[in-house]
Amino acid sequence: MSDWIEGTVHERINWTRTHFSLRVSADLPPYQAGQFTKLALQAGEQRIQRAYSFVNPPGAPWHEFYIVEIPEGALTPRLGDLEVGDKLLIAANPAGFLTLDEIPAGRDLWMLSTGTAIGPFLSILAQGDVATRFDNLVLVHGVRFGAELTYQPLIRSFAEQWGDRFHYVPMVTRETWGIALGGRIPSAIEKGALEQKVGLNISAENSQVMICGNPEMVRDTQAILLARGLAKNLRRKPGQITAEHYW
Ligand SMILES: Cc1cc2nc3c(=O)[nH]c(=O)nc-3n(C[C@H](O)[C@H](O)[C@H](O)COP(=O)(O)OP(=O)(O)OC[C@H]3O[C@@H](n4cnc5c(N)ncnc54)[C@H](O)[C@@H]3O)c2cc1C
Repeated sequence: MSDWIEGTVHERINWTRTHFSLRVSADLPPYQAGQFTKLALQAGEQRIQRAYSFVNPPGAPWHEFYIVEIPEGALTPRLGDLEVGDKLLIAANPAGFLTLDEIPAGRDLWMLSTGTAIGPFLSILAQGDVATRFDNLVLVHGVRFGAELTYQPLIRSFAEQWGDRFHYVPMVTRETWGIALGGRIPSAIEKGALEQKVGLNISAENSQVMICGNPEMVRDTQAILLARGLAKNLRRKPGQITAEHYW
């Protein structure tokens, strides 16, 4: 059972018709980059609650959530109606294992995401410790349309900070878009296109791979990496693949 805290929408960023971010003021206990909490709204007698990852690094002046509105969804259309000053409920127990302290040592960190699941990786990158743990940082963002390649100023700031140690690979599935790779993340790995683009190989020896988002992408990518000799990262048996499904 969660304890709930009232939060206030402090700022709202509209990225596309369906994608938006909420910056929320609320007095939450400390959490780690990569973790999530639950947001909820009261609908009559019912409290509708879902999990959302923090986009901000810990210690930021607000808690930021990057959300896609699912038209038939129970909660996101209601979150989509929130404006600055509106109230919502936040669970007071942030949780989750997609955090740096769960990741064994390695040379290269690959962060593979679809859609709004880029959020926890932005938090980890903004927090900064990741750059002392790994030589190379690879952020892959798979989306359907180019307009969903959001958070570009923040991503540019990572490139400015870390130069050629930081690799950002946008991937767009439903249209051709500038320098973005086409197709899905698993097939880009299978065909070698992703590694060619980055100039690094994914291997059990050198890589740690964090995967977050669409369950099909997570499953398919894991299967390809397992076949290549990487192993799931478990507390009792460390490996190279750490994953979080968004649904
Ligand atoms: C650990 C964790 C962290 C999460 N963090 C985020 C986050 O930061 N941002 C976010 O937008 N969602 C996130 N989610 C998903 C979120 O909890 C909800 O499932 C989502 O917002 C849909 O809620 P809903 O009530 O509107 O839809 P529901 O009525 O619950 O319908 C769910 C359906 O919507 C689809 N769906 C769910 N999430 C997504 C998504 N992100 N992209 C595309 N389709 C989706 C699926 O088909 C799913 O079956 C996270 C989930 C988990 C488990």
